[in-house]
Amino acid sequence: MAAKIIDGKQVAADMRAELKEEVARLAEDDIVPGLGVILVGEDPASQSYVTAKERACEEIGLFSDNNRLPADTSQKELMAVVERMNNDPKINGILVQLPLPKHLNEAEVLLAIDPDKDVDGFHPMNVGRMVVGEKAFLPCTPHGVIQLLLRSGVEIEGANVVIVGRSNIVGKPVANMLIQKSNMGNATVTVCHTRTKNLAEHTRRADVIIAAAGRPNTITADMVKDGVVVIDVGVNRVEDSTKKKGYRLVGDVDFEAVKEKAGLITPVPGGVGPMTITMLLYNTVESAKRAACIDSDK
Ligand code: NAP
Repeated sequence: MAAKIIDGKQVAADMRAELKEEVARLAEDDIVPGLGVILVGEDPASQSYVTAKERACEEIGLFSDNNRLPADTSQKELMAVVERMNNDPKINGILVQLPLPKHLNEAEVLLAIDPDKDVDGFHPMNVGRMVVGEKAFLPCTPHGVIQLLLRSGVEIEGANVVIVGRSNIVGKPVANMLIQKSNMGNATVTVCHTRTKNLAEHTRRADVIIAAAGRPNTITADMVKDGVVVIDVGVNRVEDSTKKKGYRLVGDVDFEAVKEKAGLITPVPGGVGPMTITMLLYNTVESAKRAACIDSDK
């Protein structure tokens, strides 16, 4: 039987509608969550990501302080913008669009962000808080994956979850969230990578597979059991002469074949992708609530 498709666009739209209502309630108390956005240079992909983030802020009523800096901005100038935002009470979240031009020290910039405004969840302080199970800003893509599972009614507690990929931005944080003693955790987690022996042996035992390898067809139908839940984080370009751009986007999973065996599966595009910006908005609203000492749910 063909799988039910998890519609990431719909889940993201639902969450954004909830956030918009929350922002409207906060506005009654004169609280307007603010996101400081910093883009250095003119990389077209970064420009379009930043524009999408700014537009998303506007849609739900957040204030955004948009800073487009020239490609030759110095480390000192960039650090000064971060510092200004750290000290600005109107800014609850700071987003530095990566990658930065090569002459800039990315690690130093990310470390300079106030951990209480680190809505990307990349600051070591937030990573540490997440690992020990304290209140933290959870990184956006992994948190989006968990929300897709929760909002699709997937039982995470006790599930055998196999994650393919161990990067700092996807595989490791999602594994950490899933092993926490919390409503988004209590799973039994296996993390696979390029040194894993016999990947299929692991994936065939999985109740839930999270694919984040960045390689098309990493998960094929013979590697999954019937009824498995598949979350495909991968975004890969493959040549396609029928498309105007000459390529199309695919995930890490052989979607057409795996969907015939899976219980639930995310498409690419339209699965995890729309969740990432949504979770950035979520973190910014959370940050504003924390700054105003309003109890949050996490
Ligand atoms: P990454 O840093 O390149 O990490 C890939 C991970 O997958 C590595 O741990 C690697 O193992 C493992 N891997 C690669 N090929 C494998 C294979 N054949 N078998 C087992 N493990 C394999 O990538 P990333 O930044 O985590 O991103 C992963 C994918 O998610 C990419 O396609 C990226 O574009 C996408 N992504 C999407 C979003 C979104 O918003 N939708 C956000 C972030 C990333 P080793 O550690 O051994 O090298």
